[in-house]
Amino acid sequence: MTKAYKIIDHTYDVVVVGAGGAGLRATLGMASLGLNTACITKVFPTRSHTVAAQGGVSAALGNMGDGDNWRFHMYDTVKGSDWLGDQDAIEYMCRNAIPAVIELEHLGVPFSRTEEGTIYQRPFGGHTLNYGKSMAKRACAAADRTGHAILQTLYQQSLKHKAQFFIECFALDLIMDGEGVCRGVMAWNLEDGALHRFAAHVVILATGGYGRAYFSCTSAHTCTGDGNAMILRAGLPLQDMEFVQFHPTGLYGAGCLISEGARGEGAYLMNSEGERFMERYAPTAKDLASRDVTSRAITMEINAGRGVGPLKDHIHLHMEHIDPAILQEKLPGIVELAKVFTGVDASKDPVPVLPTVHYNMGGIPTNHLGEVLNPTAQNPEQVVPGLMAIGETACVSVHGANRLGANSLLDLIVFGRAAAIRAKEIIAKEKSVKPLRPQEGEAILSQFDGLRYAKGSLKTADIRLTLQRAMQTHCAVFRTEATLREGIEKIKDIATSYKDIQLNDRSLIWNSDLVEALELQNLIQQSLVTIESALNRTESRGAHAREDYPERDDTHWMKHTVASLQGHKVSFTYRPVHLYTMTPEVDVIPPQKRVY
Ligand SMILES: Cc1cc2nc3c(=O)[nH]c(=O)nc-3n(C[C@H](O)[C@H](O)[C@H](O)COP(=O)(O)OP(=O)(O)OC[C@H]3O[C@@H](n4cnc5c(N)ncnc54)[C@H](O)[C@@H]3O)c2cc1C
Repeated sequence: MTKAYKIIDHTYDVVVVGAGGAGLRATLGMASLGLNTACITKVFPTRSHTVAAQGGVSAALGNMGDGDNWRFHMYDTVKGSDWLGDQDAIEYMCRNAIPAVIELEHLGVPFSRTEEGTIYQRPFGGHTLNYGKSMAKRACAAADRTGHAILQTLYQQSLKHKAQFFIECFALDLIMDGEGVCRGVMAWNLEDGALHRFAAHVVILATGGYGRAYFSCTSAHTCTGDGNAMILRAGLPLQDMEFVQFHPTGLYGAGCLISEGARGEGAYLMNSEGERFMERYAPTAKDLASRDVTSRAITMEINAGRGVGPLKDHIHLHMEHIDPAILQEKLPGIVELAKVFTGVDASKDPVPVLPTVHYNMGGIPTNHLGEVLNPTAQNPEQVVPGLMAIGETACVSVHGANRLGANSLLDLIVFGRAAAIRAKEIIAKEKSVKPLRPQEGEAILSQFDGLRYAKGSLKTADIRLTLQRAMQTHCAVFRTEATLREGIEKIKDIATSYKDIQLNDRSLIWNSDLVEALELQNLIQQSLVTIESALNRTESRGAHAREDYPERDDTHWMKHTVASLQGHKVSFTYRPVHLYTMTPEVDVIPPQKRVY
């Protein structure tokens, strides 16, 4: 098989798969520590989904004179996670947020400024002062293009430190040895059609989320969770996949995001009766309650017949009252998005919005150093040698059952940095990279070849649409056993139908037909795990709202779901939640009822 393909072998200390905020922060860190580092990415680095992040990156800098403190940030994050987040990792992230953001500033990120010249910070959902007493100004923002600013800066800095980039190169699968050690990765270069086999001490997956498993999502078409699927195919489990975040304000029809930054600057939600209904659902935080709470509130308003529009199937976001100069200075991208995708001038009329899939809390289980864990081993903290994961693909778990806004960009930079430091320590103890034997990776190529010549009858786009609609209908904001079971049957049928896929392009150069088929396979595998995990968890927690089990059940369910996939069958084990802190400098936050 390998003879049929031109294979180019490479050896690096570290190979990072993904060049979003997480991948680039790790790449920059390792290259600057003197490691021989390659970064593989299927899209040009600055086109990764991180570029679309609008609102901000959280850190308790206290620049707005509100007396903010990282302990408040930690409390909010634990509460936001609905007590499913690991408190040691959350402490690590919130404490390190402050130096990590200052470091970004020093690397050159052009943050918006306060009058004193410090980094501008805005309120965001669920971020509070004094343990929930009032709203904090914690999201550090570069207007409404924070992700764009961070990504450009990190790419420039990685180039400065001479990291090697393999751009528009699609990673197919991990190369694992018989002992469960990751030895490298196989990738396909879209530009010249060559196959590249990378051997490395450490492979770091930074491949982002899988929002595209759903019909309506805010994420880019490239967000197909390829790294998550590679983990499943390597026989390793994923964690907490039932927790899918719906953002309350996706643009009606288009799905693009209207950042929480808009509500941070004073925008509010209104139903068809002219009521600011969030006051009923979250008396203190109101429109700035956390995302799961706000998305459920909108869905309940619509279900109660108080939606707006001819079909009464969405809600209005008002920002006409905000000073046009502030709109122009702080939210120019939002105003433009509303205009282009709905034709609404946000300075004059309300913007139509609807909860839309936005973020995946679940993913590859890791510790706070970025090392991948295999909780199906006897020790649930067992590390998989040679493998790390960071960013949205990882589940550290700092977001637990529900992520707070502005905490993802933070997760990328804090754990991207941590992974670089850890990789340096691991590699310092290693000898040279063990070369791969000729047959290693052969099975990956044989799968690839089979798909390339697939002669079935179903088009990729048709199977994908059926999948996305099934996930949207059966694994949505509210879930019940009956809808989930029906969805599982549909998704299993879709997984079976994939065997009858038809590809028309047999070439190796810029074969988007083949890329989409590979991505679809990844989406199907993750959908199976997501919906089965949702059926399995018989409680409501964070973003997972079961109508048939409306309460959180800490006695039985304060534990991480660990799901493995064999064929179409999903099996479960569990990993304990870390209800302890990393240092004695902060107390454990005991479980409470979550109100905003
Ligand atoms: C519209 C929008 C707005 C957001 N706003 C905010 C915000 O204001 N604040 C906040 O904190 N969070 C925000 N988020 C969430 C946050 O932006 C994402 O969670 C985060 O950017 C993900 O970063 P990442 O580095 O993990 O992955 P991504 O940025 O998605 O990058 C993934 C990388 O992996 C590569 N890749 C994937 N598969 C392969 C493969 N098979 N082979 C090779 N390369 C591959 C891609 O090329 C890409 O470089 C927002 C998200 C969206 C969608």
